[in-house]
Amino acid sequence: MTPTGGATVTPNFSMGEAPLEGEPYLLTPGPLTTSASVKRAMLRDWGSWDGDFRAMTAELRRRLLAIAGDTQGAYDCVPMQGSGTFAVEAMLGSFLPRDGKALVLVNGAYGQRIAQTLDYLGRAYTVIDKGDYLPPRGPEVAAALEADPALTHVVLVHCETSSGILNPVAEIAQVVGARGKKLLIDSMSAFGALPLDLRDIPYTAMVSSANKCIEGVPGFGFVIARREELEQSKGRSHSLSLDLHAQWSNMEKTGQWRYTPPTHVVAAFLQALREHEAEGGVAGRGKRYAENRDVMVAGMRKLGFETLLQDGWLSPIIVTFFNPAHPKFGFQTFYDLLKSKGFIIYPGKLTVVDSFRIGCIGRMDATVMRRLVGAVAEALQEMGVDDATPPAAAMDERAKLVA
Ligand SMILES: *Cc1c(COP(=O)(O)O)cnc(C)c1O
Repeated sequence: MTPTGGATVTPNFSMGEAPLEGEPYLLTPGPLTTSASVKRAMLRDWGSWDGDFRAMTAELRRRLLAIAGDTQGAYDCVPMQGSGTFAVEAMLGSFLPRDGKALVLVNGAYGQRIAQTLDYLGRAYTVIDKGDYLPPRGPEVAAALEADPALTHVVLVHCETSSGILNPVAEIAQVVGARGKKLLIDSMSAFGALPLDLRDIPYTAMVSSANKCIEGVPGFGFVIARREELEQSKGRSHSLSLDLHAQWSNMEKTGQWRYTPPTHVVAAFLQALREHEAEGGVAGRGKRYAENRDVMVAGMRKLGFETLLQDGWLSPIIVTFFNPAHPKFGFQTFYDLLKSKGFIIYPGKLTVVDSFRIGCIGRMDATVMRRLVGAVAEALQEMGVDDATPPAAAMDERAKLVA
């Protein structure tokens, strides 16, 4: 570890610090609940040009490349100011040539957002749209690539946070690589907790952000991309501020971000990266989240709730549940009751039936999830809902998924 920068100033807390007392747990997939030590890392101002901060940026990039599995130095990491969507737009605008054509795999809001971004950028694309919650599969991607030789890139969302489905990234990467096409991955809500090691799953570029599975606070995203791809992207971006090549080459030359960096967010993120390592990296973090999911889903099912997805597709990131059919159930009341008991949940995003979502990521463990299930049971009781079974229409929807 570098002796300068954040390492000397920010005490190296090991993993395990709880969030602050009195705050509700954010059971939402980013922003999420962060440790007190991550928050404390923000209690200092940094000069963006100063050597200490440049060392922090260098450490951040190095640590992210290590998490990605870049042992050969073939990839590089470029952080970009803004929320995750800014980094997705930077990746698409910088890596998709103006005469290229993308195949976008859509099964929810984030896939749709990628298509919408390409509309803004004026890049050619086509979609495979699987609706709200069916995964794109290898053979249909292969067929689409073979049917349209103009396609140069495939864009995939790793975990589609709108339903919580875990898309088969290894299967898709294999098909795309075998046909010599380039794969761009939105791994926003998965990177750091689910395996995406580029030695196993080769890709051209992937993007994630500070406030998801690494458990930092919001303020920037980052792209991990092949160096040769970064080199070739010069002059391609439609945007001054979102030009990845310009950000990258400036960072390589000066160690600095091109425009004002979110300094406090970076300091918090470095602390979060150290806690991620102390927890056992991707495997350790993924294990805790999977336990969170298993405890929470088992408890909710015991109360009569049903998940949208079958177990095999349930991500350890966020889980969608159907609203109960009971006439006394109302989402807003349910939400308010849970909030008063210390838990913030997320409304659903399905178009056909009413649902809500509960996140498994952030600074919390199975004990917290057990308390959450207890709070849900109390909330149902206070509402006068003695049966959490969803309406028949929800079960019909789910039957389509199984088929
Ligand atoms: C969170 C998220 C994003 C980015 O959302 P922002 O609100 O811009 O941070 C993009 N894709 C997925 C899959 C996400 O979960």
